[in-house]
Amino acid sequence: MKKWEENVRRVVPYTPGEQPNVPGMIKLNTNENPYPPAPGVLQALAEMDAERFRLYPDPASSVLVEALADYYHRPKEQFFVGVGSDDVLAMAFQTFFNSKKPILFPDITYSFYPVWADLFGIPYEQPALDEAFQVVREDYQRENGGIVFPNPNAPTGLYMEPAGVEEILCRNPDVVVIVDEAYVDFAGPSAMELIDRYENLLVVQTFSKSRSMAGMRIGFAVGNPVLIQYLNDVKYSFNSYTMSQAALELGAACVRDGAYFQETQKKIIAARERTKEKLLELGFSFPDSRANFIFARHESCSASEMFEALKKQNIYVRHFDAPRIRDYLRITIGTDEQMDILIGFLREYLKR
Ligand code: PMP
Repeated sequence: MKKWEENVRRVVPYTPGEQPNVPGMIKLNTNENPYPPAPGVLQALAEMDAERFRLYPDPASSVLVEALADYYHRPKEQFFVGVGSDDVLAMAFQTFFNSKKPILFPDITYSFYPVWADLFGIPYEQPALDEAFQVVREDYQRENGGIVFPNPNAPTGLYMEPAGVEEILCRNPDVVVIVDEAYVDFAGPSAMELIDRYENLLVVQTFSKSRSMAGMRIGFAVGNPVLIQYLNDVKYSFNSYTMSQAALELGAACVRDGAYFQETQKKIIAARERTKEKLLELGFSFPDSRANFIFARHESCSASEMFEALKKQNIYVRHFDAPRIRDYLRITIGTDEQMDILIGFLREYLKR
């Protein structure tokens, strides 16, 4: 090892899903939305004034924050925006998880959480989900330095009703609880409704899934203004201009086009329910997903074999080679047509 390397911060990075660029592929591996961004976004893009790029963007991201505040009927002081929810979550870990006690998150969950914890030197424990992949709420009653979990959980897709989230909040008034709602628009009520009663709750959402804007990198947090102020203090200590001018303008246009958002949301939920029925017929089993993906295993066929066979057909899904979940494939919900092709292939493949 070179002398200078002794001073290097070494980390084991998160592995993002593949972004292959194969013509005609069916991409069901990173939970993107199969539908294009809203018409309002396309119009804002066509009208965008490139001269504006000469200047720095508004560090407070006001146009986007105000669009979100309007849409959710909440004061703008409750919103924080970032470069995808990964940026918002990383910033929130750094801001709120500053205790010597371990933070808690499930053993099977978004695999970025342990990476941020290691990067920021945050101790953590991972209470196991039960056999049915449900969160065991009693496990979140022990002493801790903070709590984070996705709802619906990833990659299982299981959703916890607001009453369950509230039970965890009730038991943990002395730490910040982060609910990562990347997939909540496909599921049910958001925990946002609990913010006014729990000043230690931070809800994080993204434009990458239900809003068809993964490439634009927009995420946001909603919480008590005091929490949001602490987040901003850390943001301004790191990078004042996280959001590009393009992301601010297109993000605001996206939020204003609420009708399109609701329409695509419905189509994806309908395709998900239809896909569940077909997968059951083919001998798959899965937790009852409320997200835009299904986490499925087959009674007689190995997940890694199916993963490779699908890839040969240019159908990309995700497989995690990790304890407890290596028998499963995570299949993003695409268009009806894409799901028909997937099911058609699996039907033939399983007949071999
Ligand atoms: N949280 C969860 C649970 C996710 O699955 C993802 C997507 N990988 C994210 C957060 C981050 O999404 P983004 O940074 O695109 O908003």
